[in-house]
Amino acid sequence: MQYLSDNGYTTLTLKQFTDIMEKKAAAPDKPVLLTFDDGYADNYEIAMPVLKKFNFKATVFMSPGMVDDGHYINWDQAKEMHAAGWDIQPHGMSHPHLPKLTAKQQAHEISEAKTQIEQMLGTSADVFCYPYGERNQTTIRLLNELKFRYAFTIEQGVTTAEQKPLLLRRIFVNGKDTVEKWIAKLTQ
Ligand SMILES: [Zn+2]
Repeated sequence: MQYLSDNGYTTLTLKQFTDIMEKKAAAPDKPVLLTFDDGYADNYEIAMPVLKKFNFKATVFMSPGMVDDGHYINWDQAKEMHAAGWDIQPHGMSHPHLPKLTAKQQAHEISEAKTQIEQMLGTSADVFCYPYGERNQTTIRLLNELKFRYAFTIEQGVTTAEQKPLLLRRIFVNGKDTVEKWIAKLTQ
């Protein structure tokens, strides 16, 4: 985060990101959408205070079926993060391997996560992130039927408006990499 701040990057809210993707707004210099997968408790305990220090925006993809187990953010924490400007979006109810499920099970995993986030946080939840990056044709069909606007994979690379909206790329931040290695990925 210090590197991003020192080097003139602008972090985006999800609304700013989608406006840029849809050419409704011009991108700032060096735009970055920070995404956190799974909604681990440390997103609340550690990441939120760090991002607040830099006045950075971020998006967390959470699985509402895991809010009570202590390892993941609970609804009170999700509400606090949302109030602090974080976008909260669905990552399946139970972080499943979606292609291993029936269409009915997949529909429940995706739509129930969307509905719970929308009801608990009073926001729209129409950007998905595939658990493990896994999906099949049924997953894509369901996301279209449920009017999801975008979905993130774990395919590596910079996100562009030329990519299919339900197959967006990202750059993985590996905690085991050196910061130099991460900078090389970011600036490739
Ligand atoms: Zn995940």
